[in-house]
Amino acid sequence: MKFRQILLTSAVALALSACGGQSPAPAADTAAPAANAAPAAEAAPAEAAPAEAAPEAAAASKPATVENCATTLEANDQMQYNADSITVPASCTQFTINLKHVGTMGANVMGHNVVIAAQSDMEGIDKDGAGVTPDHVKAGDARVIAHTKVIGGGESTSVTFDVAKIKDGGPYKFFCSFPGHMTLMQGSIQVQ
Ligand code: ZN
Repeated sequence: MKFRQILLTSAVALALSACGGQSPAPAADTAAPAANAAPAAEAAPAEAAPAEAAPEAAAASKPATVENCATTLEANDQMQYNADSITVPASCTQFTINLKHVGTMGANVMGHNVVIAAQSDMEGIDKDGAGVTPDHVKAGDARVIAHTKVIGGGESTSVTFDVAKIKDGGPYKFFCSFPGHMTLMQGSIQVQ
């Protein structure tokens, strides 16, 4: 019984690795003729799980490319940044975030900005900036460490700030304060 389980396990492994599973399955049939039909059928649905898991794992962390104390974030019409983490080199005294809207929708319907703040201040900044046009940041909001203006498809903007402001405390985040965007459009920013 134990021997047969090992055979079945390896048959499943073969089926998974083969991805189409043409030849390995019949080979296992000859080793355990009677009981093989059911486990072979079970192996088929199991194949779907790893295939789905792969893209999710790849999307888990997308560090921004940082060069010369600057990075360029892209934002699109699907309400996404192209990165969810920015690591600022500790050797930088100032850091620049360039924001490029790679979509085509206007700033009034799919506007994007970048706001830097402590994670604990995000909710309040977002709420208080919701009705403020065009930039969706309350004037003189002391919780905002830095922010760009709101831009639409095809536009670019940038903001430069003192790295010392995010060296202590935190954790700090970057996010889009356009109403409804913060949940999807946010990431961590840290000095290292
Ligand atoms: Zn946005």
